[in-house]
Amino acid sequence: MDAFTLIVAAALAALTMAASMGLLYLASARQACLVDWTAAAALFALSNALAAIGLHQQTNPIVFIACVNALHIGGHFGMLAGVRRHLHLAPGWRWGVILMAGLLAAHGLLVVREAPLYRLVLFTPFVGALNLGAAWLLWRRREREVCAAHTPLIVLQVLSALQQVARVTIMLAYDGRPPGFLGGDFFRTSGALAMLVYLSLAAMCCALIVSHQQTLALRRASLTDVLTGWLNRRALHDIAMRDFRRCRRTGAGMFFITFDVDHFKPINDRYGHGVGDAAICHVTALSARVLRGYDALFRIGGEEFAVLVVGEHADNVCVMAERLREAVVAAPLILDGKALSMTISVGVAALDAHDHKWEEILRRADEALYHAKQNGRNRVSVHGRDVAGRGQATRLQAVGA
Ligand code: GH3
Ligand code: MG
Ligand code: MG
Repeated sequence: MDAFTLIVAAALAALTMAASMGLLYLASARQACLVDWTAAAALFALSNALAAIGLHQQTNPIVFIACVNALHIGGHFGMLAGVRRHLHLAPGWRWGVILMAGLLAAHGLLVVREAPLYRLVLFTPFVGALNLGAAWLLWRRREREVCAAHTPLIVLQVLSALQQVARVTIMLAYDGRPPGFLGGDFFRTSGALAMLVYLSLAAMCCALIVSHQQTLALRRASLTDVLTGWLNRRALHDIAMRDFRRCRRTGAGMFFITFDVDHFKPINDRYGHGVGDAAICHVTALSARVLRGYDALFRIGGEEFAVLVVGEHADNVCVMAERLREAVVAAPLILDGKALSMTISVGVAALDAHDHKWEEILRRADEALYHAKQNGRNRVSVHGRDVAGRGQATRLQAVGA
């Protein structure tokens, strides 16, 4: 294929990318990085369209060439800006404009004006740096759950940079006249072909990142309790199942502490649901403060919570349960200067050697909680001691209020 056809095809590929990124933004994924990538694709489309016109005319003023190159580098900057925005960094378009303006001005230099090879040597390090910058940012932020979505764009950006370096090296090695194995005009034909491949793949890589991010956001939302922002019952199911299997395999201890606010209905009835909600959030915040970072706190009902503790000594779990109870008693919710005192009843249960499902531990913790309610509330009940149960694998010490 000749350079002209390839450049036109690259311009069309850029337009397709701009349309797909823009439509994706409008249709569902309102992620700002899509706007950057739309702008990047539009700049690439413009640059390739001008390059096609230029190729048709054969001789072009330097201003025309400068515009093609500046738009091209603007496109690569847009790709980096989108990556930065995707990673919650400022896109820095201001620097993109400065870079484009600087490149335009550089075309005024005699040496750049006179020799196309110098233009290439001047231009390539910037494009390579932008490509590698985007790849490096994505690589630095790789986490297990996003790695698969980021990898294609990382690879594409690195290949793009390598391709630039390879072209310059060949041009320098042959003093600007390499063998024409890609048609008579190696520089233009290879560049257009690389651009065509790059744009076709970039659209897919960007769409993959955005759709994966949306999936993660939906998954996070499905595991989060709307009122408190902590984990919900669905998350409990996922995490407890994983921990249960691990604890059965390794023999580590697994415990549930469940707690429920005492006489909560009267709070709702007397002060209204809004205050009830504030009370739930207050208890959640107090509990989170007592628990260490790695103990998972779940809201499993209206004002009922579960804490999953793994690999801890039974005595420490009971101490933790008692601390939770004390924390709620000690810190009433302040409402218009008045203190609204609350208490919680707490149940504790441990993994038993006979357990087949994690739900069995939770059920025993609920039994212990019910026992605490029956015995006056504002207390901790431990299954296997306060509540009769079959032989416990881990002997729990009772803690009472
Ligand atoms: P007990 O000491 O036996 O626990 O008595 P209680 O009044 O706390 O009874 P229970 O635990 O059954 O009360 C649950 C109440 O929590 C019933 C429901 O109106 C209220 N509730 C459930 N979810 C919410 C919520 O999201 N916000 C508010 N404000 N109230 C809720
Ligand atoms: Mg209650
Ligand atoms: Mg309840």
